[in-house]
Amino acid sequence: MSFLQLHEVCKNYGATPAVSSLNLSVDKGEFISLLGPSGCGKTTTLQMIAGIEAVTAGRIVLDGQDITHTKTHQRGLGIVFQTYALFPHMTVADNVSFGLEMRRCPVAERRERVQAALALVHLDQHGQRYPRELSGGQRQRVALARALVIEPPVLLLDEPLSNLDAKLREEMQFELRRIQRRVGTTTVMVTHDQSEALSVSDRVVVMEAGRITQVADPLAVYEHPGNRFIATFVGKANLLPGTVLEDEAGLAVQVGALRLPLPGPVFAAGSAVLIGLRPEKLQLRPAGQGRVPGRVEECFFLGSQWLYRLATPLGELMLLAPNDGSAALNVGSEAGVDWPDHALRLLPADSHSARA
Ligand code: ATP
Repeated sequence: MSFLQLHEVCKNYGATPAVSSLNLSVDKGEFISLLGPSGCGKTTTLQMIAGIEAVTAGRIVLDGQDITHTKTHQRGLGIVFQTYALFPHMTVADNVSFGLEMRRCPVAERRERVQAALALVHLDQHGQRYPRELSGGQRQRVALARALVIEPPVLLLDEPLSNLDAKLREEMQFELRRIQRRVGTTTVMVTHDQSEALSVSDRVVVMEAGRITQVADPLAVYEHPGNRFIATFVGKANLLPGTVLEDEAGLAVQVGALRLPLPGPVFAAGSAVLIGLRPEKLQLRPAGQGRVPGRVEECFFLGSQWLYRLATPLGELMLLAPNDGSAALNVGSEAGVDWPDHALRLLPADSHSARA
C-alpha cells in the first residue's frame, strides 16, 4: 500500500523544467534513494515533498491526504540537510527538543523522547554538549535525532552524509540504515553517490535531466541497468558495440570476432546493441586461455581488488580481480580474459541520456 505518492509532478524555474512528469510511489517504512548526477532534479523533488518548493503541476499525496498545497510545517516531515543546521547556542539536548517544544509537548514527555532519540543515535551521553564540541559525524547524528524525535511520517534526507570524510561516511551509511530499520520511518534520501544509494536503500530511483529513468531494488539496478548511462553511473561497466544475428543455433550477438549466445531481453536480428560486462565478472586466465587475449596496459591496487586495464581485440576492458595476496600481473604481460555467459548484459545501442 503506497504511503507517499507523487503524481505527474513538474517543477519549472521560469521557462526551464527542473522536474518533469514525475510519478513515484513509496511504501510505508520503505527507504528510497533519489540518485542522479548534479542538476538532475533530486533536491527539487525532495523540496517539493517537503513543501519548501511549490509544484508547478501535479499532486503529492501522503497517507491518503492530498498535501500538494499544504504548508511545510503542517506536513510535519523530518528533514535533514547536508549542513546539519543545528542551533550553535543550544545544547545537543535542546537542539533535539526544539521541535517538540514547538509542538507544545509536555516537559516530562519531551525529556523522555529527547533521551530516547539521543540513545538511538548513540549520543545519550552528549546531551549537555554544544554542537561545536562534537565531531562532524556526531553533529550529523544530532540532526538525525532532531528529525526523528517528532516521529515524522516521512524522513527526508538531502545528501546527509556528504560533509563527512570517506571512512565516517561509510560508517554512517550503515548506521543510518540500522536506525531506519529500527524506527521504520518511511525515508526518502537524495544522493549522487551510487554506492551510498545501493547500500542503504530498499529501492533506488535513478533520475536524469528531471526525469526518472529507472526504479528498482539496488541489486536489480546494478545487475540490470536500464540504459547506458545507468550502467556506467552505477558501478563500472565495459560497454562494447555488437549486433544481434540469427544463425542455426538461434539468436546470438556478434561482438568483434566473437559470437555469443544471446541473453534476455531479446532484441530482433539486425539490432545494434551494447554488450555490458561488469569488470568484476571478468576473470584473468593464463595467456592462450579464455574467450579473448588481453595485454595488461595498466594495473591499480584498490586494497581488496586489483583494477586492470587490458587491451583486447574487442577494445579496452576493465577487469577487477580479487586480491588473494599474490602479486599483480606486470604491465605488458599477456593474459586471457574470460567471463561466464550469465555475466553478459544487452542494452539498446541508442540507450543514452542527455548526460550519457
Ligand atoms: P545537485 O546534486 O547538484 O544538488 P540536483 O539533482 O539536486 O543537483 P536540483 O538542485 O534539483 O538538482 O536542480 C535541478 C535543476 O533546477 C538544475 O538545472 C538547477 O540549476 C535548477 N534549479 C534549482 N533550483 C533553482 C532555482 N531556485 N532557480 C532556478 N533554477 C534552479
